[in-house]
Amino acid sequence: MSDLRDLYQEVIIDHSRRPRNFGPLAQHNHRAEGFNPLCGDRLTLYLKVSDGIIEAASFEGVGCAISTASASLMTEALKGKPVAQAEALFAGFHALLTGEPAPPDAAPLGKLQVLAGVQEFPARIKCATLAWHTLNAALHDREQPVSTE
Ligand code: ZN
Repeated sequence: MSDLRDLYQEVIIDHSRRPRNFGPLAQHNHRAEGFNPLCGDRLTLYLKVSDGIIEAASFEGVGCAISTASASLMTEALKGKPVAQAEALFAGFHALLTGEPAPPDAAPLGKLQVLAGVQEFPARIKCATLAWHTLNAALHDREQPVSTE
């Protein structure tokens, strides 16, 4: 188990130091901003959605290692997914972080599992979910920046 934990830790550190899909997305058609005042994490999420499929996702911003790694992993996980499946991923991811049983329609989490350890640090759950709440706002074109508070 501790080997798995080390592996998870390595993936998180890697994604926080070298975030994937970092920077504005020139051809986006959805965008939202998110802010986690508890930790000071801020991010802007860009999406290119066509025919209900998320073709590309990117983000920029400043935040702690968990929020950056989570946003990086999320943008990787979203690419090529139908919008409905992105919502099912969030349902499963939220359940993972809060230690609740996954809802029946939750999608398999794949690499997002590496953030399971956040469960032990309730104060960091909002760092890990910030990108996902921002995704929700972007998909629904909410103008107001998202705050986790
Ligand atoms: Zn944070």
